[in-house]
Amino acid sequence: MQAMILKKLKEPLEWVELPDRLPGPHEIRVKVLACGVCRTDLHVVDGELPEPRLPIIPGHEIVGRIDALGSEVQGLELGERVGIPWLGHTDGTCPYCLMHRENLCDHPLFTGFTRDGGYATAAIADARFAFPLGDVGTDISIAPLLCAGLIGWRSLVIAGEAGKIGFYGFGAAAHILAQVAHWQGRSVYAFTREGDERTQAFARSLGAVWAGGSGDAPPEPLDAAIIFAPVGALVPAALKAVRKGGRVVCAGIHMSDIPGFPYGILWEERELLSVANLTRQDGIDFLKLAPQIDIKVKTTPYPLQQANQALADLRAGRFEGAAVLTP
Ligand SMILES: [Zn+2]
Ligand SMILES: [Zn+2]
Repeated sequence: MQAMILKKLKEPLEWVELPDRLPGPHEIRVKVLACGVCRTDLHVVDGELPEPRLPIIPGHEIVGRIDALGSEVQGLELGERVGIPWLGHTDGTCPYCLMHRENLCDHPLFTGFTRDGGYATAAIADARFAFPLGDVGTDISIAPLLCAGLIGWRSLVIAGEAGKIGFYGFGAAAHILAQVAHWQGRSVYAFTREGDERTQAFARSLGAVWAGGSGDAPPEPLDAAIIFAPVGALVPAALKAVRKGGRVVCAGIHMSDIPGFPYGILWEERELLSVANLTRQDGIDFLKLAPQIDIKVKTTPYPLQQANQALADLRAGRFEGAAVLTP
């Protein structure tokens, strides 16, 4: 197999040839068909997440076809198309797993971070954490659903029954969730980098009722806001944009420091919380819903060997929607 591998933090990925591996008893091996590029991959490469495992093959939005099955695998078949998400393994026994919050497991493995991911021609996954995908939809358009879609979905659920919902940062996740929220009958308010009129127009084209810069006040107070961009200064901005009792959800795995802010913008029972990882139930729920919504996923494909270019373009905000690697 071939892979783009991270050997040293903050250095470009390297193209390597690796020996083919066989799956363990509970594992599957897939031929990778497509792998999305997520902002978390940038945080991995930049060393912004604790306890990285090196060397590591990044990538946790994997669409693949099973070409080898472990002896204990149940419910999946050779040749089946599956999705492999960020949550790669849990212990199943810690207090969080037992309270159905496996996203907070004490001993997890994360695909593309602490176990090898999908920037490769093949990948091995714990079969219990892979999702059957069926054969409807293209590999490239499904890949971004596996993290941007899934963790965005969890964030939307946690944002609650908000009729007026703001999205700060309108990239891969928000462009998918805007369509979900619009379909649910909510009004979406999109906040982009200041002056980014192209992305604001993109947001309106996906159903946003209003789009503006991240420092702008929305035309009316919001019921909730989700912050997708990794920018701590957006926290006080979003708190100011929500009404009394409104909720602000931080959806990213990493954020720059949050600046000090007056208590008055949190007071009146506004809530501030974060979303971490996903549970398998989130994946099952979202992947069941997604085909009913006919989500238009805007993708920019790159050959696998151009993963470094895809990461650089993501960092610079050079494309709309999501980058996807294909072997
Ligand atoms: Zn656990
Ligand atoms: Zn991700």
